[in-house]
Amino acid sequence: MFLKNFGYCPCCGQETQFESEGEWLRDDYKCMKCGSLPRERALLMALEKTVPDWHEKTVFEYGSVNREVSRRLAQQSREYGSTAYDGAIWDIDRFQDAKKQYDIIITQEILNQIYDYEQVFQQIAGQLKPGGAHIFTLPLVRKNHKSHNSIKRMNGEIFYWTGDEYMKGEPPLDMRAWEWGYDIVDRIFRTSGLFTKILTLDNLEFGVRAEYIDVMISMKPSEKLQ
Ligand SMILES: [Zn+2]
Repeated sequence: MFLKNFGYCPCCGQETQFESEGEWLRDDYKCMKCGSLPRERALLMALEKTVPDWHEKTVFEYGSVNREVSRRLAQQSREYGSTAYDGAIWDIDRFQDAKKQYDIIITQEILNQIYDYEQVFQQIAGQLKPGGAHIFTLPLVRKNHKSHNSIKRMNGEIFYWTGDEYMKGEPPLDMRAWEWGYDIVDRIFRTSGLFTKILTLDNLEFGVRAEYIDVMISMKPSEKLQ
């Protein structure tokens, strides 16, 4: 056992034991009661910190995979809606279901699987109420390096990055369309006008420790500022 400790799980809302067999805490460090992962617990911790009255808010989650974190959002927010994740590339057409505006929009991990992030962030911004927030997780694997577009769509055809050039054809299975770095903050602002902060959380008591578990919070200015 690499790591084991008692604490409180923000996902299932219980005292629990967190355990990780291996060193890669991001995938291994689980709540023994609900199976939640560090990035999921970090997301809920960030939500509590940023929007302490989220129980009074309307929440919409894109790409839910029906895990404990989503169940908690559904049970404890004023109103919760979601679309399901099916493993495919997530593109702008997945972001047009919701016509109304929400206080909080949640996405977990899916935004590295989009070709046209500009349109997606614009769409999300349009679906936030003034003062609302898009709260999301993504592995910012590039950190201080420029975000990289690994899979592109040009004139309806797919090209992927081989390390030297873009090649037409079917990308490797584990390749994501984007590898993001901290410059995501600037890219979101330029495309949607939302201000984003990155929360890097580390708190063993809540089972929040791992590489790449940053939580991004993009705020829409309140009406008075617009
Ligand atoms: Zn739990």
